[in-house]
Amino acid sequence: MNNVKAYAAGGETAALAPVTIPRRDPGEHDVQIEILFCGICHSDLHTVRNEWKDEFATVYPCVPGHEIVGRVTKVGRAVTSFQPGDLAAVGCLVDSDRTCADCKAGLEQFCANPTFTYNSPDEHLGGHTYGGYSDAIVVDEHFVLRVPANLDAAGAAPLLCAGITTYSPMRHWNVGKGKKAGVVGLGGLGHMAVKIAHALGAHVVVFTTSANKKDDALRLGADEVVLSRNADEMSRHAGSFDFILDAVAADHDISAYINLLARDGNITLVGAPPKPLSVAAFGLLFRRRSLSGSLIGGIRETQEMLDFCGAHNLTADVEVIPIQKVNEAYDRLARADVKYRFSIDMASLRSE
Ligand code: NAP
Ligand code: ZN
Repeated sequence: MNNVKAYAAGGETAALAPVTIPRRDPGEHDVQIEILFCGICHSDLHTVRNEWKDEFATVYPCVPGHEIVGRVTKVGRAVTSFQPGDLAAVGCLVDSDRTCADCKAGLEQFCANPTFTYNSPDEHLGGHTYGGYSDAIVVDEHFVLRVPANLDAAGAAPLLCAGITTYSPMRHWNVGKGKKAGVVGLGGLGHMAVKIAHALGAHVVVFTTSANKKDDALRLGADEVVLSRNADEMSRHAGSFDFILDAVAADHDISAYINLLARDGNITLVGAPPKPLSVAAFGLLFRRRSLSGSLIGGIRETQEMLDFCGAHNLTADVEVIPIQKVNEAYDRLARADVKYRFSIDMASLRSE
């Protein structure tokens, strides 16, 4: 066992602060990774502040972080796909039972016994898992991804959650050429959704509450931008969308977006607001519209997404910060004040 540096929250109102956490020695199938960058996902904030207490109560101390890019430092005897020096990545999952129908289908995210990168029981060391706001992590090779060499490491880190969470439902719902796709909420997930939908060839419309993000939305690949608080702008798109991805982190009127769907159109929820949303039945009944959800993506599809981003040269727009600024970053993220993802430079942790 090794002790490594990390940042943890000790309780739901506590600030993140330096701690030491244990990491296991790499077993036969394990890859040990020195973490270079870790993105800050809004799920980290929901978890640290225990906002999902009814569904996933947070166990403290909580070391968040599931958008990890790093350098392999050691591998177990049986590891064949990685060697020391390789660039490697880890997302939201570090294990699953690997025997159930979901795992066999490459949909490990739906396994009934998943081990998430943080806040899950740790089978190896006891206690619970600790995420990427740390110096190093040890992960079974099945859950370690390859980062295309042309991608910048700081900007690639957010692909491990924001990238796959938006890529997976858009592939599932056939977003592409000739389709009109909406993206609600231009945050970490939303801005990746715009880039990916544009690369897939769709006509992309962004819905934002922030007037100051309008020019960015167009630069990121949107064909049109709608200020969602403007009823006239909204009604111009009534009944016209094939697909809408809802990536909003807080309470909002989802029925307003359902009304923008065409016949058989789908709106997929990836945002996970702590409180239930209210849905007007008639919006779904008319035109046979559907509302669904989506959770990250399986390992195979995560690699496919990384390769797609490599081929299209797509990374997140990141504001790189030292770990010492993490609490300030959380406050800004809560106010939707980030363009468009914080990526923590973990060298700042090693120099503490
Ligand atoms: P984020 O960067 O904070 O983006 C959320 C965006 O929602 C904001 O930038 C803002 O966009 C919009 N928004 C509208 N009203 C808001 C309000 N009252 N408060 C805050 N934001 C508001 O968050 P993220 O990291 O992209 O994550 C978005 C959500 O997805 C979170 O709930 C997160 O937990 C969830 N998530 C789900 C999965 C999954 O697997 N399903 C994976 C990762 C994250 P505008 O300024 O453009 O309005
Ligand atoms: Zn995430």
